[in-house]
Amino acid sequence: MLPFEPSRKPTIEDNWRGIILFGQNTQSYKFALAQSLLELNPEDGDLLRLEDLAPVYAKHLTEHLKNADKQGVAGSSKFLDACRSYNSDTSTYSDLVNATVQMGFKNVIDAFHRVNRKDVPYRFFEDERKTLGGIRITENFSKLEESPQFQDLSNEAEARWRLVETAWELRISRALVAVEHDPEMELLFTFDGKRRRKNVTSTRDALNGYQKGYCFYCFEEIHLDKQVETFPDVDHFFPHTLKQYGLGPTIDGVWNLVLACKDCNRGIGGKFGAVPTERLLARLYTRNEFLIGSNHPLKETLMRQSGGNHTERQSFLQDFYNKAWAILIHQWEPPEKREAQF
Ligand SMILES: [Zn+2]
Repeated sequence: MLPFEPSRKPTIEDNWRGIILFGQNTQSYKFALAQSLLELNPEDGDLLRLEDLAPVYAKHLTEHLKNADKQGVAGSSKFLDACRSYNSDTSTYSDLVNATVQMGFKNVIDAFHRVNRKDVPYRFFEDERKTLGGIRITENFSKLEESPQFQDLSNEAEARWRLVETAWELRISRALVAVEHDPEMELLFTFDGKRRRKNVTSTRDALNGYQKGYCFYCFEEIHLDKQVETFPDVDHFFPHTLKQYGLGPTIDGVWNLVLACKDCNRGIGGKFGAVPTERLLARLYTRNEFLIGSNHPLKETLMRQSGGNHTERQSFLQDFYNKAWAILIHQWEPPEKREAQF
């Protein structure tokens, strides 16, 4: 028997999330293409010609350019200039669409499926630009659409996009970018070079990429739609109440935030002011290490908050745990509602 047995293989959804959340980012075109596909909602076998894609693709990019003028690490881009000139009313909508068809898809269609320098095993479209002027939607994309988490994928892509462009826009070393959580608004925010606050994205949307639509503690399904009962809480792993005992303000750090179903956070048998078990602490450590190791835009923030290397972060969590347990006395762990998802 092998010492490690993976509990599950990467699913189609994992492949999609790998592309959106954990690939290296040099341009935001990947996010724009993802958002366009999610919005157009094509079926298995559909051919999306560049002319069909261009209006919605350009819409997402022009909207984002209004919020953050930097949409990549490269210097100048003729295509982005065309988007900017549309935004400033110096060109027409049809100029924009034409420019998008001509220049907008050059690298993104080739690079879309690439994660860690290789294409993911499940492709969501095939490139048929040479023969038919577009991309052909695969069965994998249709399967993604059938997933109960489909609605959340667009929020996640948007959250990731906002995090990445914020890091670029600040134009300072990414090591200086600290993203903080506003508990009241449940938003991630940062400060620009002039110390002005800049809201980045919803905390829930940013955290869900790792949790893939499951409660951090019990693996119950969660959904990012406010209207539904399964809308998760942004939960402090080490409870908020520890602030009274001198363990804040680091308590609000992203390192300590997870998404939890309402039952776990505040239902009968919920966590409330207890400290999660060491087993759950290990899960938190794994989550933070994963985000740090995968070039996530929150990487620097997590390192600033909890330590520069594995050893430091391990002892940071261990020390915190010892202090918290001594104050809170009670440990807590819920029964799992399904097999481990992360
Ligand atoms: Zn739960």
